[in-house]
Amino acid sequence: FIMAGCKLLDEGNVQSFLDNTDIVLTDCDGVLWRGNQVIPGAQETIEKLRKLGKKVLFVTNNSTKTRAEYVTKCASLGFPASEDEIISSSYVTAHYLKYIVKYTGKVYTVGPQGLAQELNAVGIPNFGTGPDVAENWKFEDYTTLPLDPEVNCVVVGFDKDFSYVKLCRATAYLRDKGCLFVATNTDTGLPVNGRFIPGTGTIVAAVSEAAERRPDIICGKPHLPIFDTVLKLHNVDPKRCIMIGDRLNTDIELAHNCGLGAALLVLTGCATLEEVRQKQSSNSIADQRLVPNFYLPSLAQLGTLIDS
Ligand code: PLP
Ligand code: CA
Repeated sequence: FIMAGCKLLDEGNVQSFLDNTDIVLTDCDGVLWRGNQVIPGAQETIEKLRKLGKKVLFVTNNSTKTRAEYVTKCASLGFPASEDEIISSSYVTAHYLKYIVKYTGKVYTVGPQGLAQELNAVGIPNFGTGPDVAENWKFEDYTTLPLDPEVNCVVVGFDKDFSYVKLCRATAYLRDKGCLFVATNTDTGLPVNGRFIPGTGTIVAAVSEAAERRPDIICGKPHLPIFDTVLKLHNVDPKRCIMIGDRLNTDIELAHNCGLGAALLVLTGCATLEEVRQKQSSNSIADQRLVPNFYLPSLAQLGTLIDS
């Protein structure tokens, strides 16, 4: 796997690819849809994989929604799914804190409503969601923000209300080395309508710089907590799982990090074939971990190959 070849998936290799797979982990944005626009042929391919008896899990770094909200979004776009088939970064964060870390304190969040709701659902008290800005503050006001002594963990997710006040609060908590620093994910940017908007990784980076420390735990792809959650919820053999994704340093690297059977890149999202060829020709082992075993122009072609 370390020298994955990024071969075109075709009639010659699709059968063994499918025979060796029980579970299909699929990324969402860039593979199934872009924003609220379905990628043509994706629904049919997911349906065909299920007809072949494959279990399909939807694995997303997007922290803005709860699993229940993802069920609704998937259904509305033609991808029927149950809650336990949704593996989203806010859910993983809540689940990991509760059942792996066994965290019992309060959480200060720099993150979206979806994160707060998933923490609530596992009974972890939290606060921080929503706007938090200072008006007419003097410099000293930032040094006297009240801190909650029950907070021993800061979680950073996608926070459209990120502000300097929030940065001050997060920094004050994290300057205490005993305070756990958790990130839902660290995607640097999101391609939206031909622009690149700052992703959660940029907010994590701001907090990291201010607190002068790196996150203790990153929950999303390509890191292990997201796959630990898959293992905890579903009885799976990593070697019989494949990952389908559009991004090299999240989806494809996850497959390498977790010892999955194979990684399939589709070219309907972030990564291009040129980018992969460049990683392949590099001497760095880190770059080799970004190379998928297979690629296809889009998920639609997998459906066509299944029919052939
Ligand atoms: N984070 C946010 C806030 C997003 O909006 C998105 C995509 O829409 C992602 C992360 C990446 O999601 P995925 O892992 O499904 O590609
Ligand atoms: Ca994606």
